[in-house]
Amino acid sequence: MAGAIPKALILFGPPGSGKGTQAKLLRSSLAIPHISTGDMLRERIASGDSLGLEVKNLMQSGRLVPDEVVNRLVDDRVSQPDCSSGFILDGYPRTLQQAKVLDGTLEGRGYHPVVIHLKVDYTKIIRRIAGRRQCPVCGTLYSLTSNPPRQADTCDRDGASLVIRDDDRESVIRERLEAYERQTRPVLEYFAASGQAVHEVDGSEGSPDEILARIRGVLS
Ligand code: ADP
Repeated sequence: MAGAIPKALILFGPPGSGKGTQAKLLRSSLAIPHISTGDMLRERIASGDSLGLEVKNLMQSGRLVPDEVVNRLVDDRVSQPDCSSGFILDGYPRTLQQAKVLDGTLEGRGYHPVVIHLKVDYTKIIRRIAGRRQCPVCGTLYSLTSNPPRQADTCDRDGASLVIRDDDRESVIRERLEAYERQTRPVLEYFAASGQAVHEVDGSEGSPDEILARIRGVLS
């Protein structure tokens, strides 16, 4: 729509709430980029430089990466031309400091933030993440319960043996949930205090498409 203010969709929720899945579905249906700080950090690790190594150790133990690192990654990414009609943020902001920096970035570049809070209870999250498997070659994610590969432990696309992401092991999942409670949940209060609407969406029940429909309902 000519003259419409582009939206920054902020997908907010604990690890395992389905942010990544929904962000991919939204990217296809809205045709705007999906910006995942987790994916960008994993790419950085793959590059093998010294920052990548530091990031790797933090991620593997379930802790957050320093704000300056992710703030820079996001600022660089949203300044790319493909973000001019809007974009989807997945996994950012995750601390109060990130939320404040993001506010400035969005205001400076003229985006309207829309926060979607995906709510899922913790017992379900632990079950979901523990059943998550990934193809080390193409990155496709599987779930042993809701979206299993056709042949056990094997990627449908390229036949590679599926792996468990290092930070998806049960001890690390608990650390990630603690980091969420301690550092990320307070961001919700910050959004509310700064007058920003937070749209609550039930991410516990239903298929990914049904949850997508709920999000689209909120956006329309
Ligand atoms: P999930 O949402 O399931 O936790 P992600 O791929 O988003 O998975 O994140 C994996 C890890 O990457 C986090 O536990 C954290 O170490 C790091 N990370 C991702 N986004 C951020 C961020 N905005 N700030 C700090 N660390 C981050």
